Amino acid sequence: MTALALTNICKSFGPVEVLKDINLTVEEGEFVVFVGPSGCGKSTLLRVIAGLEDATSGTVEIGGAQVNSVPPAKRGIAMVFQSYALYPHLSVRDNMALGLKQENQPKSVIEARVNKAVQMLDLGAYVDRRPSDLSGGQRQRVAIGRTIVREPKLFLFDEPLSNLDAALRMNTRVEIAELQRTLSATMIYVTHDQTEAMTLADKIVVLRDGRIEQVGSPMELYNNPVNQFVAGFLGSPA
Ligand code: ADP
Ligand code: MG
Repeated sequence: MTALALTNICKSFGPVEVLKDINLTVEEGEFVVFVGPSGCGKSTLLRVIAGLEDATSGTVEIGGAQVNSVPPAKRGIAMVFQSYALYPHLSVRDNMALGLKQENQPKSVIEARVNKAVQMLDLGAYVDRRPSDLSGGQRQRVAIGRTIVREPKLFLFDEPLSNLDAALRMNTRVEIAELQRTLSATMIYVTHDQTEAMTLADKIVVLRDGRIEQVGSPMELYNNPVNQFVAGFLGSPA
């Protein structure tokens, strides 16, 4: 099953064309990483998928349905940003439960899903703490937990680890990979870190100046980059 299909996606801000005819399909359960230099359009593309920006032209399909005019909350997606934006006055448990409360889920469902996410993310010792009592990595896990509980079909991550130090980044990366296997979720993950791209991806999408330069498995791109730009990005001579 196709989780996501982007067809002829273009996006302009005023006269500036930021996305130029993007075509891409992502299969269910795939881990797809978008890489490319700062300003090439990675975040804009995620925001178009999420519905936070409208494409100027082209179609977005999620799970086989065209969603161009479906609002973000109804797209079955969850987005994790690099800034965690947790509520400082709420405990870890309440931060994770909030979205489900807003969906008017029954208390029993909320409890079961939050408990499962707490266990999955190893946050059991922290459920009653406030975000300010947590480390950066723990906070990022709470932010991830807050999305898991909503059981999205599609996860979108926008450089979620870029504020963490190297060791934490590695640990959290391993956790995200495990999570993807546990949930059999479809994930799209934006990074400019080539190690992250090479270790996490089933499929890497290399973006440059609003266009897709190449799509392939880490090994395909490493062994057969289409040009010097892709080679330069993934660390192998062309
Ligand atoms: P990346 O995430 O790859 O660094 P972005 O998608 O954030 O790139 O930005 C791509 C380009 O679009 C940049 O030139 C940026 O300045 C421009 N851009 C992004 N959002 C807006 C906006 N809301 N209004 C105008 N220009 C924008
Ligand atoms: Mg960005």
